[in-house]
Amino acid sequence: MKNPFHVMIIPTLGCPGNCAYCWSSEEGSPIMSIDTIHDIVRWLKSFRTDPVTFTFHGGEPLLAGAEFYRQALPILADELSELTPDFALQSNLWRMTPEIADALAAYHVPIGSSIDGPKEINDPQRGDGYYEKTFAGYEIARSHGLTVRFICTFTNKSVLHKEEIFNFFMDHGFPMKLHPALPSLRGDSPQEWALPPEEYGELLVFLLDRYLENIDRSEVMNINDLVRCVFTRHGTVCTYVDCMANTFAIGPDGGIYPCYRFVGMPEYVMGNVSDCPSLEELADSKPWKLMQEYKAYVDSACGDCSHIRYCRGGCPYNAIAPTEGRIEGVDPHCIAYRRIFDEINLRMNREMFETPTVSARRRQRTKPGVMALVQKIVSK
Ligand code: SF4
Ligand code: SF4
Repeated sequence: MKNPFHVMIIPTLGCPGNCAYCWSSEEGSPIMSIDTIHDIVRWLKSFRTDPVTFTFHGGEPLLAGAEFYRQALPILADELSELTPDFALQSNLWRMTPEIADALAAYHVPIGSSIDGPKEINDPQRGDGYYEKTFAGYEIARSHGLTVRFICTFTNKSVLHKEEIFNFFMDHGFPMKLHPALPSLRGDSPQEWALPPEEYGELLVFLLDRYLENIDRSEVMNINDLVRCVFTRHGTVCTYVDCMANTFAIGPDGGIYPCYRFVGMPEYVMGNVSDCPSLEELADSKPWKLMQEYKAYVDSACGDCSHIRYCRGGCPYNAIAPTEGRIEGVDPHCIAYRRIFDEINLRMNREMFETPTVSARRRQRTKPGVMALVQKIVSK
């Protein structure tokens, strides 16, 4: 199963923040020109015909400024109207201004931002002042009618406060989307903040339980996705499908990459939008072939795993970036995926197939089960 066509636009790799576990570069890094937006339009006109979602990502995409969005959004929306573009933006919100919020609101651009929990947990890992700057931007965005959701990165330090972090999201009425901190590709101590896969697996099971105990008051997007994967037997987010060929990222200079995570790594450039490369030309590039090799590797390495249909070896970036492009294993988070997929399967089978009297008795004495989550997800 393929994920929908998704083009990530990276207006700059620069970022004013300095999160301890991040890889973006300093503010002052080059900004995409509007000519490149025109090149994206020319490229896509001859490239694909199916609906597209554009996500502005970074670095910090708001560094491009209000004028960039005032020009880029109508160009993409009007000149590619046959692709019925949807838009999204991922930002720490520090540089949100009423002018940028107006430009985004005109195209109903939903925003994903990042906060790692209460200030005393967030700021030690994201930098002093982060919490206040992000919430100031959040207030501007909300006052212009923009929707904001937060991603929470769990590090090996913040995971010790998982209960507090879950309560923070629930008490604020924020749906939680989480990321595990990855080993850093810069600096001398890559594991300093990284969340080990075993702990990530236990965190997902913890969140499943807390979510079920508070099913009417909370939302954990990753758990929704994982339950949906198991129930439908298909991956429903990029991590659990073959993302190649449906996800692309465009760097500030128009370079085309397999995903935003590779932007800025020259060895992963597949082409440039100014050359309007065809699918065949991109498929002839080294990064594309490497991603295909990874897919074939997953077919054999994960061949005996009962979760392969809706896991697909996880994220190729996680698997190949830390080894400098050598395929030496699947996504190291495999341990976490197995843990949570096993748990959901076990609970789902028990709830669906045990005799009605046993399941009625169990329901009376326990919290809602994963089938209650399935009902919640399908009723949306
Ligand atoms: S490389 Fe990873 S993060 Fe990027 S689209 Fe693929 S699965 Fe998603
Ligand atoms: S859980 Fe692990 S072994 Fe199974 S498909 Fe996913 S990555 Fe492969």
